[in-house]
Amino acid sequence: MKIYRANLIDTPTKDAFRVLYHGYIVVEDTGVIYGTYATLPEELQGFAVEDLGDKMMIPAFCDMHVHAPQYRNMGLALDLELLPWLNTYTFPEESKYKDLQYAERMYRRFVHELWMQGTMHSVVFSTIHYPATHLLADLFIESGMSSMVGQTGMDRNCPQTLSNTTDELVEGIRNLDAYLKEQCPDGRVRTIVTPRFVPTCSDEMMSGLGQIAQELNLSVQSHLSENRNEIAWVKDLAPQAKHYGDAYNRYGLFGQQPTLMAHCVHTDGEELEMIKKNGVVIVHCPMSNMNLGSGMAPIRRFLNEGIHVALGTDVSGGHNMSMLRAIQYAIQVSKFHYGMSGGKTSFLSQSEAFYMATTAGGQFFGKVGCFDKGNSFDALVIDDNYLNYDNYTLEQRLERYFYLGDDRDIKRRFCNGKELCEPAF
Ligand SMILES: [Zn+2]
Repeated sequence: MKIYRANLIDTPTKDAFRVLYHGYIVVEDTGVIYGTYATLPEELQGFAVEDLGDKMMIPAFCDMHVHAPQYRNMGLALDLELLPWLNTYTFPEESKYKDLQYAERMYRRFVHELWMQGTMHSVVFSTIHYPATHLLADLFIESGMSSMVGQTGMDRNCPQTLSNTTDELVEGIRNLDAYLKEQCPDGRVRTIVTPRFVPTCSDEMMSGLGQIAQELNLSVQSHLSENRNEIAWVKDLAPQAKHYGDAYNRYGLFGQQPTLMAHCVHTDGEELEMIKKNGVVIVHCPMSNMNLGSGMAPIRRFLNEGIHVALGTDVSGGHNMSMLRAIQYAIQVSKFHYGMSGGKTSFLSQSEAFYMATTAGGQFFGKVGCFDKGNSFDALVIDDNYLNYDNYTLEQRLERYFYLGDDRDIKRRFCNGKELCEPAF
């Protein structure tokens, strides 16, 4: 049993922060939260308490959409929109991951940066290459962080150097799944079925991926309705599908297994209804949507309709791996919406954005994302002393941290109950 005393702040629901000034959080040896308390109950008196003083303790971040092999391009090459951007900058960079030495050099930096940014849970695209994907999964195992790692499927409309076959991909998924179930029986690092998006995946590949997802009971991730030219192209490529989402749904890749769909900037009508009915989780990536000129996803509307929305950085469409920036931009984009609609919508609140960055993503992993009893203990200790020079409330301190803070303020990181020190890479 471990007991910490700190200023606890989290979002069990999206509508408000839950705060506990100088409260206690009790963690079982299994890494599960036993409870949070304003005063320690009698049965816990006598246990040692680690007092973290006036620091804040918040749930660790969950980045639900990020491309590990685009790490080198982060903050670069943002002068094109999605389709030419992929062909000009992204596919050539991803092709380099055939070289395992290059992959190791970059993936070590990528995993280190997740640690640095306090992103203890991530859902990651790798490339088409099995050896590099396996290596990335090994780095996550070594780091102690939790991740879902997907070998990316692509077999059309892409360079020959960045194309795999359905058989190769299905075999890769099978091998990685078996390996990770043996190495991580607790599911801390898992694989996820990852068709890149409809334009690069033939019907045969989509069908193979749908089958393997169901057979191995794996989650699914992809991209949906990000850009207008992309949507028009999908209409040509999959004329039998009722809408873009249906092009996944026909193959069991749209909520039949737990599914993440990034972007949904232009999702509406029947596609939105299908997302709702199938329980698909939308991953909002505001940084990327702005950088690639894709548009503004109507997140307020999605939330009002009861759709689950989590947050992602989408590096390198997104230019920064900090979930603080994702929170900030999510709020700011929603304010653009508000302004453009003449005030007909309402913009996202601080607690809604924080909820999307922690609890909403965490639920995709299981009992993760807030400090509820029975949840896995995933937390960051934040020293915001330099920002906290007057009588700010905890909510105000967190708000200032969203806008003014960065990774240097994160003093300690916990994942699945274990404190994670800086990886030696
Ligand atoms: Zn993406």
